[in-house]
Amino acid sequence: MSTIRFKALEEINKRRDIPKISFPSDKISDYFGSDVFDLPKMQKYLSKEAYKNVVESIETGAKINRKTADQIASGMKEWATGKGATHYTHWFHPLTGNTAEKHDAFISIDQDGNSFESFDGELLVQQEPDASSFPHGGLRNTFEARGYTAWDPASPAFIIDKTLCIPTIFVSYRGEALDYKTPLLKSLNALDKAATSVCKYFDKSINKVFATLGWEQEYFLVDEALYNARPDLVLTGRTLMGHASAKDQQLSDHYFSSIPERVLAYMKDFEAEAHKLGIPLKTRHNEVAPNQFECAPVFEEANLANDHNQLLMKIMRKTAKKHHFQVLFHEKPFAGINGSGKHNNWSLATDTGINLLKPGNTPKSNLLFLTFLVNIITAVKKHNDLLRATIMSAGNQHRLGANEAPPAIISVFLGSRLDEMLNKIEKNIPEKKKTLEVSQNLKLDISKIPEILLDNTDRNRTSPFAFTGNRFEFRAVGSNENNAGPLIALNTALADQLIRFKKDVDKLIEKKVRKDDAVLNVLRKYVSESKTIRFEGNGYSKEWEKEAEKRGLTNIKSASKAFKAFISKETIDLYERNNVLNSKELHSRYEIRICEYIQKIQIEARILGDLAINHIIPTAIKYQNTLITSVKELKAIIEDQGDLEALASRRIGTIKKISKHTTQISIMTQEMIEERKKANVIEDCVKRIENYEFKVKPYLDKIRYHIDKLELIVDDEIWPLPKYRELLFNR
Ligand code: ADP
Ligand code: MG
Repeated sequence: MSTIRFKALEEINKRRDIPKISFPSDKISDYFGSDVFDLPKMQKYLSKEAYKNVVESIETGAKINRKTADQIASGMKEWATGKGATHYTHWFHPLTGNTAEKHDAFISIDQDGNSFESFDGELLVQQEPDASSFPHGGLRNTFEARGYTAWDPASPAFIIDKTLCIPTIFVSYRGEALDYKTPLLKSLNALDKAATSVCKYFDKSINKVFATLGWEQEYFLVDEALYNARPDLVLTGRTLMGHASAKDQQLSDHYFSSIPERVLAYMKDFEAEAHKLGIPLKTRHNEVAPNQFECAPVFEEANLANDHNQLLMKIMRKTAKKHHFQVLFHEKPFAGINGSGKHNNWSLATDTGINLLKPGNTPKSNLLFLTFLVNIITAVKKHNDLLRATIMSAGNQHRLGANEAPPAIISVFLGSRLDEMLNKIEKNIPEKKKTLEVSQNLKLDISKIPEILLDNTDRNRTSPFAFTGNRFEFRAVGSNENNAGPLIALNTALADQLIRFKKDVDKLIEKKVRKDDAVLNVLRKYVSESKTIRFEGNGYSKEWEKEAEKRGLTNIKSASKAFKAFISKETIDLYERNNVLNSKELHSRYEIRICEYIQKIQIEARILGDLAINHIIPTAIKYQNTLITSVKELKAIIEDQGDLEALASRRIGTIKKISKHTTQISIMTQEMIEERKKANVIEDCVKRIENYEFKVKPYLDKIRYHIDKLELIVDDEIWPLPKYRELLFNR
């Protein structure tokens, strides 16, 4: 009898054709954004007044009145139905980490029973999905289970599968945020205000500052047939067992190598879909691990860029099916090889077209650059625990602190020249010598930055937060994460820091200190106070752990501990002061993260228990019985004890080894179940998570160890689950 594993391998061997992809045109620019109700289309479908109102709303956040909303809705419907759309939905980011939608047909029936297409301003602007099953962390009782979705005009509507999708925020009956978008928009707003008023020191023509985001999305592809034969992958997104493949990433021959034909077809297919939806995908390449890949777009305004990332993940999942692939966004699908991240390239841009993290050509523009650079470093220093909390999850915990992309110590890398320069600013210019000469000297130093940054060779892949010439790259974000989490923290921390900066500078100006000197003096103070977060060396090294400890930086690998930063006094004060999230909302988010973690570990423990007891042990025993039978048969034909010993001793040794491993698996699975039972009766999830993290979770690796040993012993013919070499090299 053939195992499901062999059936899956047979299926792949039979399936040779690569699906045909049809592109709307040879040129991407011909169809880019064709399924988006963007500004050019609005201009075509809306009255002049309505169009003006939308643009104003996008630029200033101004409210759209009901009459205009009706007009916009009508134009949107006309465009969407003209493209064959039959349904519409509000599309939002609940705290599950996925996006949500509930479709309604455009259809209405009049009194005489005639049907017609309808969609008005009310349906566009606000909806009330019952939505009581979304995580809310105690924010909603069942008697007030209503949630409201409200249109975000800054992210244009789009059509997928004949459904018009309208990006919205999602809030409770009482106005508390139940999603990622609401606080993201608030944080962007806070940052805009704070940053614009700082920019005015240098350039009065700047009236708006927005955060930009360019994400790099890593993912794995696994053949669908093999995926379906691995219940652990299906239920948890990662492999809970599997011995390392003889060859995996050690030759580094996958990274940037030519993309396998079947994978390339898949990439082209989802890219075309993405381009139709206005997602500016640009880059594609093989990553380090076998079957690991990456894509990246051109950066955009952060809110839109994040919507696009969420949308792309959905499209990638859907398109994968057509190509008989499953796409894995889990941060660590395979033990022993690289996991996946989602690097967040983050910067600030002005309405005058300046990138605030790009050094300019004049001393003045460089002082502007330095102002933002130093304030960001200071903000990251102050709130590094919060930043870590936003990227911690059951999945990303496998990467954090495990000698992979991000160590669990948050530090900032600048590159040696810029680092030296900050050191100079801090040390070389004594406070008391505030003469013109000194400040000109310093200005000379600052004007050297562009030259310094031309030397872009030093990149530090071991830093979780690295400056890369004209932006910061937050490399520690997990591949499955909604970028909004870390972005909300970064934006808010920086907004808060810039407000402080403005106050400090204004105080000096009031004392008649020249503006540039005031700015420099304050920056010097910040450089000194944030110094400990800067690190240029190897973030994976043991020495750094020691050094970081000396510097007083936290190194938190535990999820239950890391999450606590969501509700620390600093975090609550920070978010409340800047009107991004209140204490209640933060507590709810904290609880949701904890519950999610518990549930993920619980599911992993359950499925591992099932596989261990019902798949692995029976298989191992079957093989053991084959060996026992063969030893018995040898005994029956060989009379000489010495000869028998020589022939059968290794077989008997294997029989014993199998016994040892199966016994351990069986004992530990039972122990793991007992630990789960103990944890499950703990009412308070804040306490329950500790049991799951420290008592249940360790069994996952311990049990796995013995299963992986058995994989090397048991006859390949009967091993039930696809092996790593099969999962990683079928493409
Ligand atoms: P890497 O060399 O790190 O692989 P890429 O050239 O692939 O970088 O770019 C990574 C991402 O950084 C892209 O999405 C790119 O658009 C983005 N990026 C570039 N400049 C900015 C910026 N000013 N703000 C935000 N993202 C940016
Ligand atoms: Mg990069």
